[in-house]
Amino acid sequence: MELRSEWRFCSDSSEGRLPMCELVLQGGVVLGPDGPAVADVLIREGRVVEVGGQLRAEKVIDCGGALVGPGFVDLHVHFREPGQEWKEDIESGSRSASAGGFTAVVAMANTEPATDAGHLARYVQERGREVGLVDVIPAGAITLGRNGEHLAHLDELWKAGVRLFSDDGSTVQDAGLLRHAMEYISDLGGTVAQHAEDPG
Ligand SMILES: [Zn+2]
Repeated sequence: MELRSEWRFCSDSSEGRLPMCELVLQGGVVLGPDGPAVADVLIREGRVVEVGGQLRAEKVIDCGGALVGPGFVDLHVHFREPGQEWKEDIESGSRSASAGGFTAVVAMANTEPATDAGHLARYVQERGREVGLVDVIPAGAITLGRNGEHLAHLDELWKAGVRLFSDDGSTVQDAGLLRHAMEYISDLGGTVAQHAEDPG
């Protein structure tokens, strides 16, 4: 959380409140294209400008013993909001994700109601933005209510920004319906994720 607030401090500078902001992440194990190596990372105005040794800036964060790298992306999380917030909600899930080094997550459609229409996908996205810790990207259900009987509002979901469609733990059992969904979603440019298993 401390690190995050440092980022906010830096990003404020682009609004003119600070003339310039420089930050060094010092002495961490940097996960770069050539593999992990101990180094300093210089960030100016919210952008990485140099990776090397003995870098200096007005603000320094000691990263000794920590990994420093691009944010992780989790393609499969269950934040359970709306509808099952006693298990997890977008705020608690976002806190957990950011504490683990993730900056973006794809929230499965296993909610109550299932994310099977545009307004529900927008809700998940907007709630994620309100919490403001990680990008919460909604997956959309393939079928209404994840019941495997009728296609979800795929067009609406697509327009709301959904690019991954899945009924997740509820496998679409009707081969004709799944094929229909795959053709439709393929035409849109999206991806279908199916639990390929026989529940019987
Ligand atoms: Zn799942």
